[in-house]
Amino acid sequence: MTDCLGCQSCEDGPIVTLISGAQVCNLCPAWRVECEARELLDMPLEARRAALADRESKRGVKSVNALKDVMKAVFEARRANG
Ligand SMILES: [Zn+2]
Repeated sequence: MTDCLGCQSCEDGPIVTLISGAQVCNLCPAWRVECEARELLDMPLEARRAALADRESKRGVKSVNALKDVMKAVFEARRANG
């Protein structure tokens, strides 16, 4: 049983655990966003700012704000885990 929403691939796909603790398949949009968030967090600050600005112009503020929320969650989980 997973928390996957809207993805049809969970029956076969590998299951991953999100920062929220939810389990989804690795094809889920939620996982894709989390991978992106981790990638961005690993960038130097200047590069991260540029990457976010670029995404904002392509996908809109709403999409980037959702991404930032995930980045914050990943950041805080990393800090909590040392
Ligand atoms: Zn899924």
